[in-house]
Amino acid sequence: MTAQRIDGKLLAAGIKARVRQQADALRAAGIRPCLAVVLVGENPASAVYVAGKERDCAECGIESRLVRLPEDTTQSHLLGALAELAADPSVHGILVQLPLPAQIDPQQVIAAIPPEKDVDGFTPVNMGRLLLGQPCFVPCTPAGCLAMLQSTGLPIAGKRAVVVGRSNIVGKPMAALLLAQNATVTVCHSHTEGLAAICAGADILVAAVGRPGFITEEMIRPGAVVLDVGINRGPDGRLCGDLDAPAAQKAAFYTPVPGGVGLMTRAMLMQNTLKAAAAQKGGAEPL
Ligand code: NDP
Repeated sequence: MTAQRIDGKLLAAGIKARVRQQADALRAAGIRPCLAVVLVGENPASAVYVAGKERDCAECGIESRLVRLPEDTTQSHLLGALAELAADPSVHGILVQLPLPAQIDPQQVIAAIPPEKDVDGFTPVNMGRLLLGQPCFVPCTPAGCLAMLQSTGLPIAGKRAVVVGRSNIVGKPMAALLLAQNATVTVCHSHTEGLAAICAGADILVAAVGRPGFITEEMIRPGAVVLDVGINRGPDGRLCGDLDAPAAQKAAFYTPVPGGVGLMTRAMLMQNTLKAAAAQKGGAEPL
């Protein structure tokens, strides 16, 4: 069987086109969907990510508002800026670009975002709701992974899913989403014993470790779907995921890096922002 690439570029373009249509409709109804991005400091990678988000907003008909704060911003100053955005009815989504400088506690900052504007889905309220199976903003990377998995048309219910990585932004919410789809989910991490054998039993394998070439051929069950979340620089300096090339070829479906989960993550952020703006219009029950 030849491994099939799941085309993140194509899927993301479809999602963004739908968001654009809905954003146009909202604007016609007097609501200008708006995403505020808070960027603290001069981290070059963060600046690149933020620029990408601004481009996505422009493409989707969403207003983007960038709040730039200096590297030495205090926690209370940042919380003050967030309180202003929280109180501003023209802002529908708020995102704080991570990582934050060392003097700032990211958990406190995330918790200060009102759940109904938490388009990253990182607040304790949205995370809790995700686990409870209640309406919420789903974190963008796992949401993108699930959409890519669903695009294969393969069943998820009853399948063995293995998630390698347990971060709050990827691994844990990914596991919750797969569980909600009735997969049988195993979550692996740096203390997991017998990792290769566990992965080799997976019908669905999600790699979210952050090490180039970490997932090798013997860790893939022939015919599995492999979702590669990793964004790394390989030894040659090129962008790559966690999956090595021969391993990808053993799968039935795999996501490429670049051109895979990263693009879907960005599209899902647009979708979440639109949802936040639409909820305001409809006076929908606050999250
Ligand atoms: P973290 O560093 O927060 O988490 C990495 C996870 O990998 C941890 O749970 C860690 O385990 C686990 N791990 C590390 N070593 C091993 C090992 N030897 N065996 C098994 N598990 C191991 O990373 P993130 O979740 O934030 O990101 C993961 C990757 O995904 C990165 O490359 C990141 O750049 C990328 N990423 C991509 C996104 C996209 O849009 N495509 C979005 C977000 C992230 P432990 O908990 O025990 O330490």
